[in-house]
Formats: sequence, structure tokens, C-alpha cells
Amino acid sequence: MLNIKDLEVKIEEKEILKKLSLSVEAGKVYVIMGPNGAGKSTLSKALSGHPSYDVEGEVEFLGEEISELEPDERAKKGLFVSFQYPLEIPGISFMDFLYASYKAIHGEIEMSAFREKVEKIAKEMDVELSFLDRGLNDGCSGGEKKKNEILQMKVLNPKCVILDETDSGLDIDALKVVASGVNAFRAKDKCIILITHYQRLLDYIKPDVVFVMKDGKIVKTGDKNLALELEEKGYSLCS
Ligand code: ADP
Ligand code: MG
Repeated sequence: MLNIKDLEVKIEEKEILKKLSLSVEAGKVYVIMGPNGAGKSTLSKALSGHPSYDVEGEVEFLGEEISELEPDERAKKGLFVSFQYPLEIPGISFMDFLYASYKAIHGEIEMSAFREKVEKIAKEMDVELSFLDRGLNDGCSGGEKKKNEILQMKVLNPKCVILDETDSGLDIDALKVVASGVNAFRAKDKCIILITHYQRLLDYIKPDVVFVMKDGKIVKTGDKNLALELEEKGYSLCS
């Protein structure tokens, strides 16, 4: 589904990703772990088409080279990248934001039918309906913002998702809601990539493959036991 080959990413001449290669298949859940500063968020932002990054190498998504595409074109093809630190946008309601995004990706839909769809998902996720008519993430706690990101994911129904530390800052109830949202999203034609620091999330979401990233490269690949081993022994295991 997603093939990354020799990806080099620079920010202001500083090399962050160093010929990183990885491949992910539909139907599987992947985890990327790694110490602070390894380049995990840089990878997710570069894949989304963030304009600050100078990118070289190949990124093939569903058989098509996407590294020259604008972020909205990548989103329309079914790529969804969540923020490690979701932004607040007062003045644009969450509902209007979702409605505009949804229509851009999937085409016209009546607002009333759309609202019904979103409210159903919000209820399943224990997201207060009043949030939908507030400014996007406006005044939300860190954990609420993370839940809002998963709600966006469920509404937009992308094909490949990269969730950057979606578990950080969540209390145990919110963690379960996020995990069940992700688990319900598992499907033969979809692929999920979770960036996380903690084994804790993996008590609820069982990954097929665990990648360890260090200093801008994938340094180790394993199954879920690798995450347990890392928890116990730390990243020095991978040097
Ligand atoms: P991770 O998500 O794995 O903790 P990041 O991708 O956020 O790591 O950061 C990787 C490295 O890139 C870090 O050393 C960080 O300081 C650096 N970096 C990230 N963004 C910028 C930026 N805008 N300008 C300069 N350096 C940056
Ligand atoms: Mg990060």
C-alpha cells in the first residue's frame, strides 16, 4: 500500500531522515517506536506533504508516486495523518471543518445526512455533541484533541492512516476509546501506522509489525514482542 524508499528529509539544511525505507501492506497494523528526536514526526509530516520539508527519495502510495503532490491531493487519495500536537482553530467549527473536508474527498452530501453520520460516530466515541459546534479543538484538553483526531479519521474514512502519538496524554478511558476506534478501523483494504512511545497502547491494539526508528532510519523490525522487549530494555537494544 505504501512503499517508502531511500527517503531523505532535510529541514533548513539539517538532515533528519537518512535514506529511510519501509513498506506497509493493506490489512495490517504497524507501530513505529523510537527515542525522542528519532524523526518519527518528521516522517509523518513529510508523508502528509508538509511544505517546510525538503524531501528526496520515493514514496509510492497505492501504486502511484506521491512525493510531488500537495497535501490535499494526498488526502484525496486516502492518506490521513494525525498531528502529534493538534491545532486549535477558533472560528471554524469542528462540524464545518469536517463537512468541508468530507466533501472535498468524497463529494457532495446533504448537511443533515452528514450531521447524522458524524453524531453517530461521536456518540460511539463518547465525544460530547456540543464539541461539534465549537471551534475546532477550541479549549479542548490534550486528550480531547486526540479523540477529535480519531473522530476525523472515522468520518473521513481514509485508506492509510498514520497516527502520531495518539495515545499521549490520554486517560485510561480515552485510551480505550481511541484503541477501539482504531481496532474497528482495521480492515483488509486499510493500513494503520501508529507512532507511539508506550507499550501501554499495545495492550489494546495488537500490531502485526513493530519498527524501531533511530537517528532518521529504521534500525530494527519485529513483531509485538519487540515492543515488550523495548519496554524492558530500552532503545539501547537497537544500537
Ligand atoms: P520524534 O517525533 O521522533 O521525536 P521529530 O521528527 O519531531 O522526532 O524530530 C527529529 C529531529 O528533527 C529532532 O532533532 C528535531 O529537533 C529536529 N527538527 C524537527 N523539526 C525541526 C525544525 N522545524 N527545524 C529544525 N529542526 C527540527
Ligand atoms: Mg514526534
